[in-house]
Amino acid sequence: MTHSMSRRVVLLTGASSGIGEATARELAARGDALVLAARREDRLRALARRLDPSESRVIAVPCDVADPAAREALVRSALDHFGQIDVLVNNAGVGLGGGAWWENPDWPRVLHVNLEAVMALTALVLPGMLARGRGHIVNVASVAGQVATEGAYSASKFGVRGFSHALRRELWSSGVNVSVVSPGFVRTGMTARSRLPMPGPEVVARAIAGVLERPRREVTVPRLYRLAALAELVPALSDPLIAHGYSARRRRR
Ligand code: NAP
Repeated sequence: MTHSMSRRVVLLTGASSGIGEATARELAARGDALVLAARREDRLRALARRLDPSESRVIAVPCDVADPAAREALVRSALDHFGQIDVLVNNAGVGLGGGAWWENPDWPRVLHVNLEAVMALTALVLPGMLARGRGHIVNVASVAGQVATEGAYSASKFGVRGFSHALRRELWSSGVNVSVVSPGFVRTGMTARSRLPMPGPEVVARAIAGVLERPRREVTVPRLYRLAALAELVPALSDPLIAHGYSARRRRR
């Protein structure tokens, strides 16, 4: 074990780009010890070296979170290096990149990465957190988990929100916090093809850092998207609006 016990140890998935990369920068600047996980090893290692040239406070662990053995190896590497995990940020996620989900044979992958891996990693880190009586699970969901827009992706993100809100109640008084961060559109690889104006991923990174300082049930960012959840309360209005969006997109393709 090489780290000083005063640092908070954060295991962050999906750290090789977008929101995860921005979160790694934000948390490293705040002094956290980090375990960065994602599949693209070169990007991950380069980021870890940039954030911590000594390669002791920030480590890169290449991992496909959809692979059960790789998840176990990830948690083992984190514990071998730092001795404990104080925070798990489940940020790794995928979409299908447009088109009808039922025509894309990859749709189960969206559930494996976005939902199953979130639950499985939580199950792996929870025993240690419960034994110490402290910890924090932060799950990155989406506004598409508040307003249903895409079959496979919304199923996964509604699932992440349902899981997280239930877990918060299951862990009540245990000392382990559970927070959801639900981004609206921000500029990352996932939204590269969209022409909508959107801010960079730093706004989400700051929200993740914010819930670690002050635990919250759920934070939606950018703030404007807080209005979007209201749409789901009035399906008679939101159904035709969202359906119109689909047909407009189909016409453009
Ligand atoms: P991104 O730049 O594509 O980042 C996705 C990250 O997840 C990458 O680091 C990717 O790394 C990792 N990842 C994907 N599959 C993985 C796997 N099987 N195992 C390990 N890591 C995996 O997109 P992003 O926008 O930052 O997405 C981050 C999170 O925000 C996702 O959960 C996404 O659903 C959510 N979100 C994004 C937006 C948005 O507008 N951008 C809006 C709402 C929610 P590798 O490819 O190297 O594995």
